[in-house]
Amino acid sequence: MPARDFFHSVMRIGPVQIGTHRDRHGQTKHAAVCSNDGCGWSADYTSQSAAQLAARTHRCKVR
Ligand SMILES: [Zn+2]
Repeated sequence: MPARDFFHSVMRIGPVQIGTHRDRHGQTKHAAVCSNDGCGWSADYTSQSAAQLAARTHRCKVR
């Protein structure tokens, strides 16, 4: 599991946590991260609404 000390979780939709972090350019990114072990899905978005949409449409293969 990758280190997520930078990850500040602000919201949870199903198994997916949404949080903010800064990339190496200092820009705030909105990340959606699936918390299910064995899934490992995560993605960065430039807006929280985009991250929320991705979280809602994420089809987790782990149940
Ligand atoms: Zn998942």
